[in-house]
Amino acid sequence: MLRLPAFRYLEPRALADALRWKADAGPQGAYVAGGTDLYPNMKRRQQEPTVVVSLMGVKELKTAAETTLGGGLTLTQVADSPAVRRSAPAVAVAAGLVSTPLLRNMGTFGGNLCIDTRCNYYDQGYEWRKAIDFCMKKDGAICWVAPSSPRCWAVSSSDIAPVMVAIGAEYRLVGPAGERVVPAGRFYHNDGINYLTKQPDEILVDVRLPRANGWDAVYHKLRRRGSFDFPVLGVAAWVRWEGKRVADARVVLGGVASYPQEVPGAGEALRGGELTDDRIAAAAQAAYVPSKPLDNTDFELSWRKQMTRVYVTRALEELRQRNR
Ligand SMILES: Cc1cc2nc3c(=O)[nH]c(=O)nc-3n(C[C@H](O)[C@H](O)[C@H](O)COP(=O)(O)OP(=O)(O)OC[C@H]3O[C@@H](n4cnc5c(N)ncnc54)[C@H](O)[C@@H]3O)c2cc1C
Ligand code: SF4
Repeated sequence: MLRLPAFRYLEPRALADALRWKADAGPQGAYVAGGTDLYPNMKRRQQEPTVVVSLMGVKELKTAAETTLGGGLTLTQVADSPAVRRSAPAVAVAAGLVSTPLLRNMGTFGGNLCIDTRCNYYDQGYEWRKAIDFCMKKDGAICWVAPSSPRCWAVSSSDIAPVMVAIGAEYRLVGPAGERVVPAGRFYHNDGINYLTKQPDEILVDVRLPRANGWDAVYHKLRRRGSFDFPVLGVAAWVRWEGKRVADARVVLGGVASYPQEVPGAGEALRGGELTDDRIAAAAQAAYVPSKPLDNTDFELSWRKQMTRVYVTRALEELRQRNR
């Protein structure tokens, strides 16, 4: 059985205390929300904080308004919220597709948007990783997926992050130096180690969803076990309708790179006319080309790449269906 290492656990009730206690802990401190990502990582010694600052009691993270969702809401609260299902159904769908009911009751919205990147050579116990002499993401020097690579290719595996980038959500971050708002697309780096642009002490307090102005979005997920697993491909598709005409569009892929990857060519293929079969096929092809999954998650990688075309097509067909 994997056991947690010893650590100090702090439970602030106010945002200011959380920020101060984390700053006091220095680089050895970490925030935790539901702990469904951090604690397994600590058990595997992938992350080794000695002070853990819980965000679960921080009231500023609990906002639940039509277009502002607190980072501390549970995934169940987001998935079941009538307001979210009405104003941004793709967000509720993506939250409802995360893992299992138990994990959704514990795991939070903010935690999901910040989860660690994943890789078959990294998401292993300490002894397993030691046996291969570790890898550059933690304790080692080499990447076992691409040994000549200077960077880590661990995969962005959040279900909700691609939706946030596709719909153009904004994240409100509060840190010791103050507050800033960043577009979701600028919150993620295509780097398996430094995968967030967030400073370590900053807290994702809430997320602002765009107001209704004719937009709609959907999310489709590929995974092995439909009731449990992380995505090995996620497709978020967003359009702004003018009647039947696509005025603007974005397609964002999860599970294929170290960040939620927007495919500009797919958006271009969709803009300026009705959502015809030809436009959908062109967008699916545009997404297929840059979708370059590596051999570090589930399934055979060339099959996963082919599935990009299939899942983008399905997502866009759903959008078309909803605008009938
Ligand atoms: C078996 C299993 C299956 C899973 N399946 C999926 C899946 O299908 N899809 C999926 O997307 N995820 C999946 N997960 C991952 C995880 O359960 C969810 O992503 C969950 O939403 C994480 O939220 P949390 O509150 O538990 O995060 P935590 O573990 O508490 O935190 C995760 C990270 O985010 C940071 N953090 C948390 N909240 C904040 C905040 N407000 N501000 C700044 N930093 C913050 C923490 O410091 C930590 O680094 C799975 C996990 C397990 C164990
Ligand atoms: S992609 Fe390479 S460096 Fe990154 S976690 Fe996997 S093996 Fe390690």
